[in-house]
Amino acid sequence: MGEAVGTGPRAGALHEVVDGVYAWVQPDGTWWVNNAGAVAGDDGVLVVDTCATATRTRRFLDALTAVTGGAPVRWALNTHQHGDHTYGNSLLPASTALIGQTTMRQALKTDPLFENVPPAWTPTPNWGAVTRRLPSITMDRELTLHLGGRRVDLRHPGYTAHTPGDVVAWLPEERVLFTGDLLFHGLTPLVFMGSVPGALRSLEWMRAFSPEHVVPGHGPVLGSTDLDSVLAAHERYYRFVLATAEESVRADRTPLETAKALDLGEFAAWADSERIVMNLHRAQADLVGEPMDLLGALGDAVAWNGGPMATGV
Ligand SMILES: [Zn+2]
Repeated sequence: MGEAVGTGPRAGALHEVVDGVYAWVQPDGTWWVNNAGAVAGDDGVLVVDTCATATRTRRFLDALTAVTGGAPVRWALNTHQHGDHTYGNSLLPASTALIGQTTMRQALKTDPLFENVPPAWTPTPNWGAVTRRLPSITMDRELTLHLGGRRVDLRHPGYTAHTPGDVVAWLPEERVLFTGDLLFHGLTPLVFMGSVPGALRSLEWMRAFSPEHVVPGHGPVLGSTDLDSVLAAHERYYRFVLATAEESVRADRTPLETAKALDLGEFAAWADSERIVMNLHRAQADLVGEPMDLLGALGDAVAWNGGPMATGV
């Protein structure tokens, strides 16, 4: 099970966003099916995220080797802790300097899903022949890489958004922004391991870069003209989650009870809509000041969904 997607439309493809800057886009961007990327400089390559499985990561790195003529992968960034962006880390060359935000490194170190996948997805993901590899370099707010003449700014928003340790990669000359999972393009955003108000706040922060090209964590690459509508859609969704959670807490309802009775409106058409249950878990836990039950939130999403959630790995 798991690593069956070998070829075909869901196998992923490398898109050259601008000269020497690549997005690895894996349709359709659902659970565990992420985007990654790379920046080629004069003296080596920066990889932005790996993939969930050995097969998917190898496919990405092989495609990258083909277009860069085998230039060394000297640096890699994990945009955040989640396994779809990190579980393939051990397939990077041993000599690659792997960078992550301080809290991200700690979260990956203790991530229980790497060894034990709960029965929340179908098929059950199989990561393949990978080991848990953590960043060797940690950063707090910012770090700038110089790839020969090419500058890449790594920036943490300064607060919890999609996760506590989100980092974007920004190319100020080329005006390309790799957002990690601060953006889901065409799919329901997931914030259950982060903060809904923080994710809302991060939208303005990303807009302020004024990017011309944006590589989201999931879904197709977007240009500056699409960005406003995508940011606005995220804003409407986060505000909807917050308002729903406030009402749910006032009525003393569980996230699942509220989600079952909820009209998702325009968001019903978004892929992975069951994430409403998990996002409500996060929002309600934060409103009442209690820790969120991660496995409970996953289990409730499965209940809402009427069975395990579909994944492409
Ligand atoms: Zn994520």
